[in-house]
Amino acid sequence: MYDFDYAKPQSLQEAQDLVGEDKKLLAGGQTYLPTLRQRLAMPEMLIDLNAIDVLKGICEADARVSIGAMTRHAEVAASALVQKMVPGLATLAGGIGDPAVRHRGTLGGSLANNDPSACYPAAALALNATIHTSKRSLEANDFFQGLFTTALDEDEIISHVTFPAAPCAYMKFKQPASGFALAGVFVCRLEGSFRLAVTGAGQDGVFRWSQAEDALNADASFRDFKALELEPDMIEDMHADADYRRNLVQVATQRVVQALAQL
Ligand SMILES: Cc1cc2nc3c(=O)[nH]c(=O)nc-3n(C[C@H](O)[C@H](O)[C@H](O)COP(=O)(O)OP(=O)(O)OC[C@H]3O[C@@H](n4cnc5c(N)ncnc54)[C@H](O)[C@@H]3O)c2cc1C
Repeated sequence: MYDFDYAKPQSLQEAQDLVGEDKKLLAGGQTYLPTLRQRLAMPEMLIDLNAIDVLKGICEADARVSIGAMTRHAEVAASALVQKMVPGLATLAGGIGDPAVRHRGTLGGSLANNDPSACYPAAALALNATIHTSKRSLEANDFFQGLFTTALDEDEIISHVTFPAAPCAYMKFKQPASGFALAGVFVCRLEGSFRLAVTGAGQDGVFRWSQAEDALNADASFRDFKALELEPDMIEDMHADADYRRNLVQVATQRVVQALAQL
């Protein structure tokens, strides 16, 4: 690690006054601390968000579920409100990594990081969640902008995220060592229409599979996802080549759509 200053603000405003080009936010540290340890980043200051209570917790607001950016995955998984209103999100959070990761990792950190194999981006995009920041509110449709890239400015802090109540389900094939998605599919029925987002597979990160959505919207009993075009270039790595990943996406879609039908 390189040397850095450390601040632990007590309020969102205090954090906002500190954050900037070389002054970076720390949530659960699940991604950022290993990055620092490997000397892949050299911030002047770390701004620890862990003492800011307003960033934590889960509540119902205007028929949506509102989840603070510093809420841990384990809390989302265990929340009766999330299980009732956005069931696929509870399933997703409960399947992230291992217990240590689930008790430290945060919703805000996951979305801000936008790892192409992370699970939350699929739920946020399928449900078109609203990402509220210290400056504005962004729809998930506009938030994810490619590999590890989002619409966030350098000095912008995610405060909370609201998800619409919807029947929904999530299924992933895990990379066995980490739990990250080799291919993960989140499907929901929002205002009568199917929306489906894929993570872990696309070279540019999370994406909506519009051909599958169109097929389901034309016929809710459609299941022949192997017959559909899957346009984005697939990730190829030591865990799975492109054809294998494409197959995983198709199979995961079949299973998750079936699971949604049984809700
Ligand atoms: C072993 C392991 C297995 C994992 N498995 C999975 C998995 O199966 N599925 C999955 O989805 N994820 C997985 N993860 C990722 C994990 O769930 C974390 O969410 C992710 O690493 C981000 O960590 P964090 O929340 O602690 O944020 P940090 O590491 O503290 O921060 C990550 C980035 O987000 C920025 N940031 C943090 N909070 C905010 C905020 N409120 N506003 C703006 N920017 C912010 C930070 O500056 C930093 O750039 C895994 C991680 C590990 C280490």
